[in-house]
Amino acid sequence: MLHLITYPNDILRKKSKPVKTVTDKEKRILEEMVNVMQSFKGVGLAANQVGLNIRLIVVDTGDIVCKIANPEIIDRKGSSELEEGCLSLPSQCITIKRFNEVTVKGLDENNKEVIIKTKGMYAHVFQHEIDHLDGKLIIDYVKK
Ligand SMILES: [Zn+2]
Repeated sequence: MLHLITYPNDILRKKSKPVKTVTDKEKRILEEMVNVMQSFKGVGLAANQVGLNIRLIVVDTGDIVCKIANPEIIDRKGSSELEEGCLSLPSQCITIKRFNEVTVKGLDENNKEVIIKTKGMYAHVFQHEIDHLDGKLIIDYVKK
């Protein structure tokens, strides 16, 4: 059973390790991550938010739930500012400027390469979750 990790916790600040191959084990972790995300009514979650230092994310786009290993932004366009929250920082809501359109490449739960084009709010969610894998949090965007 995986549990949500909240700030402050060292694992949220660590750079997560790439997944070599998506096996049944990673597939089960992704499935559990979706359960945790949905139980907190979130739209995205990174594996280190449930205590695992590996590059896995899940994003609920409304139509489908994307489960991606080793997500990487391969194309980016424009910019937009949106208010973002984070399940690991329950009391924070921060306006963040990010790319408005991103193309994300990674592996799906069957270890097949996938390319996802996304814009607006969901482009923000993908960038937010990939930030998590690099130990970056929304509070880091607050200008001093
Ligand atoms: Zn977050």
